Amino acid sequence: MTQTNPYPILRELSSLDRKRRELDGAFASEQKRLDFLHKQKSSAENELQEAENEIKRYHVLFSELDQKMNEQKRTLQIIEQRSHSAKSAHEISKLEQEMAHLQKSQAELELKGMQSLEDSENCEAIVAEKKNFLLGVEKSIADINADVKIAQSELQGQILGLENQQQSLIIELSPAFQKTLALTKSKFKGQPFLAFAVGERCDACRFFIDRMSMAELHTGKTPFNCPGCARILVPQD
Ligand SMILES: [Zn+2]
Repeated sequence: MTQTNPYPILRELSSLDRKRRELDGAFASEQKRLDFLHKQKSSAENELQEAENEIKRYHVLFSELDQKMNEQKRTLQIIEQRSHSAKSAHEISKLEQEMAHLQKSQAELELKGMQSLEDSENCEAIVAEKKNFLLGVEKSIADINADVKIAQSELQGQILGLENQQQSLIIELSPAFQKTLALTKSKFKGQPFLAFAVGERCDACRFFIDRMSMAELHTGKTPFNCPGCARILVPQD
């Protein structure tokens, strides 16, 4: 069995890893476009719900005010009737006081009703605005969703192809290199696992590599991790 030079394979694997990171990034940013819209949608839905609840509370308040005003109107009518048949000046003055009091209270309730009406109209405007916004977001989601899914499935295809390519490269390496590659890659978790020996130093961490190690490295027989940063060292071309 002829000894394959592991370094071109390792370089190729490293560059495929970089492409993989780019594809992963592109895949994630497609997802972000959708996530952003979904977030907008759900916060608009919450605001809409709040405004609708507020409107419901106003409706309850209006019917309470109405009821109270009607009761007071009836009481006023009764007092009015009684004042017609009142006999003493004292009794009339007492009834007039009661009527004045009730009229004042009616005016206050009316004012409160008017203010609340204004507030509830503001709420209705918010509801209309949120509903409109939601329609827009839902349309964007529908439009973008299709684009994102297509883009993601294309990216997924590229990622699979790339993984196959990596797999077929890895099996060309000697078992020792395969083992070191697996260990080193799992340590660096998708980040660059390769470093170049430039001159007498690791170009990733500037660790000094002595002459003997360098000579050993150039034979390509055994894998060599940088003692400084633990990346797999590859001689520069
Ligand atoms: Zn290093």
